[in-house]
Order: sequence, then structure tokens, then C-alpha cells
Amino acid sequence: MDKKAMYKLSYGLFVVTANREGRDNGCITNTAIQVTSEPNRISVAINKANFTHDMVRDTGVFTVSILSEDAKFDLFKHFGFQSGRDVDKFADFTDCKKAENGTMIITSGTNAYISAKVVQEVDLGTHTLFIADVTDMEVLSDVPSATYAYYQENIKPKPEAVGKTKDGQTVWRCTICGYEYVGEELPEDFICPICKHPASDFEKIVK
Ligand code: FE
Repeated sequence: MDKKAMYKLSYGLFVVTANREGRDNGCITNTAIQVTSEPNRISVAINKANFTHDMVRDTGVFTVSILSEDAKFDLFKHFGFQSGRDVDKFADFTDCKKAENGTMIITSGTNAYISAKVVQEVDLGTHTLFIADVTDMEVLSDVPSATYAYYQENIKPKPEAVGKTKDGQTVWRCTICGYEYVGEELPEDFICPICKHPASDFEKIVK
């Protein structure tokens, strides 16, 4: 069995937003898809470690903002590389507006949004799959949607060449989100604190 077959699946990239008791938050996912058209229904799988997960579970509503090819890496960092438990991601964030359901729509680096109301939850262990009826949606621009492959090729900064030293330290970088771990050996059971991917998704970049 060749695990690389999984890499042939293509994905979009999205900011999923929620609002609980007046507090806005959002996270990056690649898991939003339309599952039925009658009724118009989408699903999104959210990692339970994400603050947004609990907010969606508690409130039953969310908005998916669809990231487009003009999205800047900073936008991915802002929503993907920090937790809403530690920072208010909307405190100084202006590229957004309120959706009908009270959650935030990201208005820059996106080409559409879809607001939805949860009708079913499936416990997947690490993630919850939220299945939701579409309640509102709008096209924001004609820029093509950013696929995960496009992000890897064109948006994510290229890793430094192996062999380039940085104070003689070894750096391991998460190939998913870019988080860097400094240490001679990366523990086998290491989990990326940002995107929750395992040690096997890290590459040694500096020695
Ligand atoms: Fe990561």
C-alpha cells in the first residue's frame, strides 16, 4: 500500500469562523465540501484541538470563507498558526464583515463565503465532522479558489536549502504549516503544536 496515494486527493482551503457569546474566532481547514444539493448541504471536519471546534459544536453555526489564489501567507499564519485560546484573531483584523448568522466573513484573499447551520455531527476521534444546511452565501471575487497544491507551490514560503546552518542548530520544519522545531532529533511522537500533524510530516531543513 502506497500512502502517497493520499497526496493525489485535491483540496480547497478555507477559513471556518464561529461566534460564541460575542467572541469571534476562525481556523484554517481543507475539509469543506458540498455533500448534497437537495437540500444544499456542506460538511466540514474540524480538529477537536481547535478552539473553533468547540465554538461550532456549542453554537451549531459557522461560515466557511473560501480562500483564493490572491490570499497572502500572512492570512494563513493569522488563522492557522496561532490559537484563538491565546489570541483574539479578530482584535485588529479588518478584512472581514459579519454574516447573517453572527459569524465573521473574511473579505480579502477569499472569493466566496457559505454560512451554514449544523444538522448532524459525526465523532471521528481526532475530528468532528459537522454536516450543515447552507443558510446564506455570496460570491466575493472571480479569483480562482486556492487549492492545497496551489498553496504548497505558490503561497507557502520555500524551505531553506538543507545544509545551510543557523547557529549550528538543527531545525525541523512542519511541511504542512511551516512550524519550526529546533533540536538535534525530532521526537517520534512529536505532534505539530500548530496544525497537529505528526513527526512524519516534518523535514530536516538546517544542519
Ligand atoms: Fe504543522
